Amino acid sequence: MLGLCRLCGEPGELQESHVIPSFVYRWLKETSATGFLRFSDSPNKRVQDGYKEHWLCLPCEQRLNVWETRFATDVFHPLSLDGRQRVNYEAWMMKFCTSISWRALLKIQESGLAHFTPSQKVAVNQALDIWSKVMLDKLPHPGRYEQHLLPLDTIVENSSGALPANINRYIGRTVGMDAIRSESTAFVFTKMSKFLVLGFIDVSHPRQWVGTKIHVRAGAVGMMSYSVPIQLRDYLADKANSYASLVSNISDTQRSKIEQVVRKDLDRVARSRTFDAMRNDVELFGRAAFDVHKPKGKR
Ligand SMILES: [Zn+2]
Repeated sequence: MLGLCRLCGEPGELQESHVIPSFVYRWLKETSATGFLRFSDSPNKRVQDGYKEHWLCLPCEQRLNVWETRFATDVFHPLSLDGRQRVNYEAWMMKFCTSISWRALLKIQESGLAHFTPSQKVAVNQALDIWSKVMLDKLPHPGRYEQHLLPLDTIVENSSGALPANINRYIGRTVGMDAIRSESTAFVFTKMSKFLVLGFIDVSHPRQWVGTKIHVRAGAVGMMSYSVPIQLRDYLADKANSYASLVSNISDTQRSKIEQVVRKDLDRVARSRTFDAMRNDVELFGRAAFDVHKPKGKR
């Protein structure tokens, strides 16, 4: 497919690539026992592998692949095996997180971002532009459009009693992305199993986030002290509860019925560009895990 690369703007043969990297889905499949991957027994590729888009020319695709491989090898797999360690990273980490936030926000933006205010929508375009420049080495750092990485098991340890019992399964077994906003905050959020990448779009109080900020040259991630706004923990607990009620309410008969519905819906999702359709797709990986577009208290 010929077109203009969404990253560098050059014309070329556009590659089909994942919005959320394929190593995440591979790992989930390889390590699956029960849980959402029952849906992946379907031969439908979209269920198994997540969103793919023809966005990038070959050189840009290769550029992203290098960062993905480093993240998978140095961070994702070691910390998935044993979260009680700390691993160091180098300059590739900023590029990787930037590429994740850029892809997720680009995908979500296509659906309109109806819950964002006009000024937040302006900030979305600025963030996408700055992140492109960071990936292309035209800017040394993303400025206020910071990248953050949070291994979620740390949250569980730090918040005894306040989280639902299935939080680990929710954290470990779901994948997805969302754009979250309040009056004072907007960020894009990509959850790859227990790794949460956050790209700041418009955050008034960035200092509420301690230990999560990705540094340009080098840093460490894993077993260390993190502190995040309480709303994030509440949000994750909420989503874990929704996930639990989905899983517990499914009988075997229902399960096969749901699978049929899901397969039917997916054909529609494949054609659709609307946000609701995207959300349905995401729900396969954890019911309502990314349904935050209603203000809290109005569910
Ligand atoms: Zn390109």
